[in-house]
Amino acid sequence: MSATLLTNASQLLTLRGCAPRRGASMRDLGIIEDGAVCIEDGTITAVGTSAEVWEQMKTVEVIDCTNKVILPGFVDSHTHPVFVHPRLIDFEKRIAGAHYEEIAAAGGGIRSSLRGVRESSEDQLATHVLKALNEMSAHGTTTVEAKSGYGLSVEDEIHSLEAIRLAAEQWTGTVVPTLLGAHVVPPEYRNDPEKYVGIVCDQMIPYVAEEHFDAPAGSYKLAAYVDVFCERGAFTPDQCVRILRAARNHGLKTRIHVGQLTHTALDLFAEFHPASVDHLDHLSDADIAWLATADTVATLLPAANYFLGLSVFPPARKLIDNGVAVALATDYNPGTSPTTSMPLVLSVACTHMKMSPAEAITAATINGACALNLQHRKGSLEPGKDADIAIFDAQDYREIPYWFGVNRCSQTIT
Ligand SMILES: [Zn+2]
Repeated sequence: MSATLLTNASQLLTLRGCAPRRGASMRDLGIIEDGAVCIEDGTITAVGTSAEVWEQMKTVEVIDCTNKVILPGFVDSHTHPVFVHPRLIDFEKRIAGAHYEEIAAAGGGIRSSLRGVRESSEDQLATHVLKALNEMSAHGTTTVEAKSGYGLSVEDEIHSLEAIRLAAEQWTGTVVPTLLGAHVVPPEYRNDPEKYVGIVCDQMIPYVAEEHFDAPAGSYKLAAYVDVFCERGAFTPDQCVRILRAARNHGLKTRIHVGQLTHTALDLFAEFHPASVDHLDHLSDADIAWLATADTVATLLPAANYFLGLSVFPPARKLIDNGVAVALATDYNPGTSPTTSMPLVLSVACTHMKMSPAEAITAATINGACALNLQHRKGSLEPGKDADIAIFDAQDYREIPYWFGVNRCSQTIT
């Protein structure tokens, strides 16, 4: 079997380890100057300086990485790729001063993406998802969490998850599917949201728990996770608890959208051990204290704040300084974050949340892998892990968030 050697890199960022990184360890990237990594059959077999790794080689295909930085492929642990149309009316309305909830009340927002999904075939939806996945890998991403959530009926949520499965089968990276049936209450249940919650609990969750999804990362259910949007205008904490309980009863893991527009105490959800709680623009000191000891990753989505033109961002500095494991993701979606670029997210995290470039890279690699329970296979470059690698046209990792709005990723390997 022949091997592939990536060699002569200005910097190789190893991010060694399988545990979420907290505090000062977020700033230790395990950098090897003049670094090399050897790959055999999709698995990393050696990591070190170019001279060290070269000595262990027999037959190799060599990829010269002179003046490049090699790092683990990004893990984008929060995306909503199953939609059809960009939301350009929302975009213009918001520029003119309308707020998120005003746009939703006017018939825009999440509900306006429903029609496109409901009128499209699985193949058509899969084409849109695959286009997004390919854009993501062009920007250095190798693992993507993908949510349903613009179908909002049993049939259309299943179609959305099937579209994710179809796209994942055609993509070389790893996709982790999530059921987000509880994104918002669909218009037909506006006057009886409890009935819709019942449909999510009694019909959607049991269905996806019985179907299997064979992906490169292993065999999943049709969805590996159940997510809920706990927010004013979406679902109440009580409704979310009901849905998360149904997920747990069916053996599905959980993750939660919470604290984006208003505050909800996080310890309400402690019993579910969510893999991740996401957004967290509104947090109390008690929430931060809980997160610092919980086996839950705090996933921040600052591209949404940027795109919405908000001046307030999640308190990344306070979270990191208090020992919370922080991850970064794109929140790729048509309403609030239409970007597939993790480097852009890193840039916004540095400039607006005052994360250091090293912390941002840790949050986008090993901590993202932890947010998907994939830390034993993804998120760092070390022997035995999957050969998911991003190569950037840069001599220093700090250039990745520095050059914003352009794509410096020269190659992605999976
Ligand atoms: Zn989201």
